[in-house]
Amino acid sequence: MVTMETLVSLCKRRGFVFQSSEIYGGTGSCWDYGPLGVELKNKIKRVWWRDFVQQRADMVGLDASILMHPTVWKASGHVDHFTDPMVDCLECRHRFRADQLDEMPWVHFCPATKGNKFTIPAEETCPHCHERRTLCPDCGKGELTPPRQFNLMFKTFMGPVEEDAAVTYLRPETAQGIFVNFENVLQSMRRKLPFGIGQIGKAFRNEITPGNFIFRTREFEQMEIEYFVNPHDTVEGRPADEHWHDRWIEDCLAWFRRYGVQAENLRLHEHERAELAHYSKRTADLQYRFPIGWSELMGIANRTDFDLKQHAKWSGKALTYFDEERKEHVVPFVIEPSAGVDRALLAFLADAYREEEVRGEKRVVLRFHPELAPVSVAVLPLLKKRDDIVRTAHAIRDELSRHFTAVYDDTAAIGRLYRRQDEVGTPYCVTVDVQTVGDTDRGEAADGKVTIRDRDSMEQIRVEASQLVAVFGELIGGKSWAEVSARVGRS
Ligand SMILES: [Zn+2]
Ligand SMILES: [Zn+2]
Repeated sequence: MVTMETLVSLCKRRGFVFQSSEIYGGTGSCWDYGPLGVELKNKIKRVWWRDFVQQRADMVGLDASILMHPTVWKASGHVDHFTDPMVDCLECRHRFRADQLDEMPWVHFCPATKGNKFTIPAEETCPHCHERRTLCPDCGKGELTPPRQFNLMFKTFMGPVEEDAAVTYLRPETAQGIFVNFENVLQSMRRKLPFGIGQIGKAFRNEITPGNFIFRTREFEQMEIEYFVNPHDTVEGRPADEHWHDRWIEDCLAWFRRYGVQAENLRLHEHERAELAHYSKRTADLQYRFPIGWSELMGIANRTDFDLKQHAKWSGKALTYFDEERKEHVVPFVIEPSAGVDRALLAFLADAYREEEVRGEKRVVLRFHPELAPVSVAVLPLLKKRDDIVRTAHAIRDELSRHFTAVYDDTAAIGRLYRRQDEVGTPYCVTVDVQTVGDTDRGEAADGKVTIRDRDSMEQIRVEASQLVAVFGELIGGKSWAEVSARVGRS
């Protein structure tokens, strides 16, 4: 398993992720996606949207604003309950979540060894004096304040005057934007239950202890679905909400598998009764084996009718669905598959990372699914001194870039260029050589063919340049290299 340090370093070196405001010393737990990172992130969002919103007849999309009416957060419970217990160190001023203090290693100046400094593993006592941690785990010196409740929402002010009346929040989740638009979507789109609304957007949480690279950040992006079902319906003899909850768990698991995440790195975690939010009937997390250990990749919750009822109560509007068959108004139950884009990106990245040995040399390769790879095709001239080769390579890149993410690179020898593309996960390289353009001095005619190299097998085939768009359409569209290369490369 790749370490987080290796990923962070690769991400910075190759333009995936940079620390935010780095030239000013950085901003805590904020990250910027570089040229390759933004491509990867956009592709993750695009396939998610295509697969879960556009291709499903029972789904529609939404893009709600980040700033919402402040009462939304009263109704949702965020103003009163979206809090963490927090303690501060009186010495170094570091802030910790009270419930996570025992989960971290702690610095200890041991009285039994003339005050020598030790770092004791989490949840262990000092092997010399046998004491437990009571002071700040970071500096080992400061007393900690008693826990205080700390709201995780970012507060801000709407309008020109900073007065209390105009206080609102940056949304801590995208879900509420969907709930408050339930009636609008239902009416404008003439929907019947069950149906779902999908949304991708930014959310903000002032986490006390963010960290682990892009795993937990204060500003992040969510891909959320609220799937509304009639609680009085049954499917295959079971309550409809329970049936659809299972279906969504299966669909989400299958989605990560489809884009290459290895089965042994994914597992399901059912929340125990005590873990469940008070409104939830059942919640299952999809966990991924991140470099930091098994952690939540996404959650799939049955939120019952809690949210729609809360918004009906606070807004005074009836948020119900009229069941034509039973002639009754019902408040739908909601199944919520909720995924973090940044976390999904980290999982795809960690899962794709390989170090291989090729002819005695180390090869670092990101085995991204071809649809997710930041660069789909790299076009490389074999000789950059030959104008006709360079010109042809540029022309091929220009044509390919109308359909795929294509780049041109001539900054090193071909072997080096291949390694660089492997390291950023480019599934295919196209090489333009002397045969492609011909050599008039030697009386050799151009054959108009180029070499395609496959990242994973490192096999190469020669293909008519005019066929490239069709060939990559198949390869990136899901056909295997073995199948396509056997047919196209035979000529
Ligand atoms: Zn301290
Ligand atoms: Zn000690």
